[in-house]
Amino acid sequence: MAQTREIPTVRLGDRALMPVVGFGTWRLSGREAYEAVRAALDLGYRHIDTATMYGNEAEIGRAVRDSGLDRGEVFITTKLPQGNAGREAETIERSLRELGTDCVDLWLVHWPPGPGALVRTWRELLAARDRGLARTVGVSNHSIAQIDEITRATGEAPAVNQIPWSPPRHSASLLDRHRERGIVVEGYSPLKGTDLDDPVLAEIAERHGVTPAQVVLRWHLLHDIVVIPKSARPDRIAANFDLFGFALDEEEMAQIDAMAG
Ligand code: NAP
Repeated sequence: MAQTREIPTVRLGDRALMPVVGFGTWRLSGREAYEAVRAALDLGYRHIDTATMYGNEAEIGRAVRDSGLDRGEVFITTKLPQGNAGREAETIERSLRELGTDCVDLWLVHWPPGPGALVRTWRELLAARDRGLARTVGVSNHSIAQIDEITRATGEAPAVNQIPWSPPRHSASLLDRHRERGIVVEGYSPLKGTDLDDPVLAEIAERHGVTPAQVVLRWHLLHDIVVIPKSARPDRIAANFDLFGFALDEEEMAQIDAMAG
């Protein structure tokens, strides 16, 4: 039976609440994807990140159904592949079929399509949302200039920009630029992008009795960055979700911020 636990959420306009810790599923497929997502849901995750490109939407849909949770309790994100620009309706309808749901919680443009297609693609995502196929829509791997272009053209900013984030990539000014526009930053590859053997992280982790990976994930959350770590291992899936029993002080945050190259 899945356990219930309050996970902090971030508001996406007036349309949805997104749990600030989600489960990443890139490179998980077949039985491994199904089992990892079942484990994550059993441990209390209520946010799953997938993409058409990952080829695991069917396994994720099955894991959510088999978890015994109501569909409304799990926040599901999927993404439009760059090469499917121009075939948006067909792509989301297929994702919904695979996931076995009528509506995803967040649909993202995975990578910006060619310059001529940027605005047209964004209009198609808004249209899918207005048809009720996605509760909210956003982008991934978009620059601020690209976000400003699609916002100017449609009057609607993306709810989220999913971009790589980790201590070595930290940029306070890039965070501010999203924040000024009311866009939630969702960081990907938080662990892969970090040297988990870094002595700064090791020392902070030891002080709090946690792992360097947990320190890195907590640091993101304290910067109001949504995290979606991936693991195929139940022990790590559990540890990556166990982030609220400690906090980092200002000095520790500054030390980790200073890892930016
Ligand atoms: P990640 O979550 O930072 O790292 C995953 C790697 O770290 C795996 O090799 C995993 O191995 C290992 N790991 C997991 N937990 C660990 C821990 N506690 N200690 C040590 N190692 C640990 O990287 P990611 O998968 O690239 O990013 C997360 C998610 O973001 C993806 O799964 C995907 O959903 C999304 N994403 C989006 C984009 C995009 O373009 N929008 C691009 C990349 C990723 P094990 O599985 O063996 O534990």
